[in-house]
Amino acid sequence: MKPIPFNKPFIIGRELSLIADAVAQGHLSGDGAYTKKCNRWFEQKLGCGKALLTHSCTAALEMAAILCDLQPGDEVILPSYTFVSTANAFVLRGAVPVFVDIRPDTLNIDENLIEVAITPKTRAIVPVHYAGVPCEMERIMAIAKKHDLLVVEDAAQAMLSNYNGKSLGTIGHFGCLSFHETKNIISGEGGALLINDARFEERAEIIREKGTNRSQFFRGAVDKYTWVDIGSSYLPSELVSAFLYAQLERADEIIAKRRSICTAYAARLAPLQQAGHMRLPEFDEDSNGHMYYLLLDSLDIRTALIAYLKAQGINPVFHYVPLHSAPAGMKYGRVCGTMIQTDTLSERLLRLPLYYEMNQDDIARVCAAIESFFVH
Ligand SMILES: *Cc1c(COP(=O)(O)O)cnc(C)c1O
Repeated sequence: MKPIPFNKPFIIGRELSLIADAVAQGHLSGDGAYTKKCNRWFEQKLGCGKALLTHSCTAALEMAAILCDLQPGDEVILPSYTFVSTANAFVLRGAVPVFVDIRPDTLNIDENLIEVAITPKTRAIVPVHYAGVPCEMERIMAIAKKHDLLVVEDAAQAMLSNYNGKSLGTIGHFGCLSFHETKNIISGEGGALLINDARFEERAEIIREKGTNRSQFFRGAVDKYTWVDIGSSYLPSELVSAFLYAQLERADEIIAKRRSICTAYAARLAPLQQAGHMRLPEFDEDSNGHMYYLLLDSLDIRTALIAYLKAQGINPVFHYVPLHSAPAGMKYGRVCGTMIQTDTLSERLLRLPLYYEMNQDDIARVCAAIESFFVH
């Protein structure tokens, strides 16, 4: 039988013809017409002050960490249940990640545990919208305001999810998006930094352009460009931006398709939840269909189910090894409070295959295999 991969990169429309057009325009390096079109798209569609395309979400997080102006020993509060880049971006600045536990319902940072983690060295909070489900941003922004902290949303999984009528990534001082091939809207590798506080706009452009004021020079604001700050090369090539723009043109369809796959999984697996075999995620109409997962009763059941599905050519995945228990997490970070939810939930979570070209037969096959694992 045809294998069902966990993820499958896809082309939906004009990706290849827009790349050909970028080549024909003779501008392949960064910040050409397609990069600018993408930036405008984010500013208009998501409603952020300024969007800057980057070569990855990791790059956007690194830019945000530089913009936070962290000094060695400063602290940043974040969940341990996340991808390494959420922490690494700040560790690269010499800051200490302070890990707090997650909520058992959304698997997002537990907003009730943030204030006790704040010390005189705390500078920022980094909420991660896991599976595209919003963190409690109202509460988090209120805590940040009270303690004069910056908020960097890791919205890598959350593009086009909403929270109280706002797009995720546009609520904190900074929002970081990913277009890695495993995300909803893709360009292979890719990302964007959303800047929601105008104070940071000018410096963000400089950091992204290797620490030069090149962007101001091209706008005619200065008469020569030079080295003015620290920075790196964070721009994507026009080829990548052209590919991404073709996906942005069809973003609503892509999100709708992923949401329909989540809805189909939820309907078909509901009886297994009722029978007590698993807990299913709850998504509302504001979420972007990024992920569908099962929470099983134990690590042993998860291990057995993975083997059972793989034997039938179905490829689920699990993640993350919590950062506080990873070698670099222990070396560079510290925990605040217990990590009970993080430790137990991360062992029990299983992500099901979910990709744009997945059809009803594929979904039915995955669900039938899960049913037969539990029912026989
Ligand atoms: C995918 C992901 C990233 C990294 O994104 P890249 O574009 O691959 O750098 C960061 N944080 C989270 C939560 C992610 O899921």
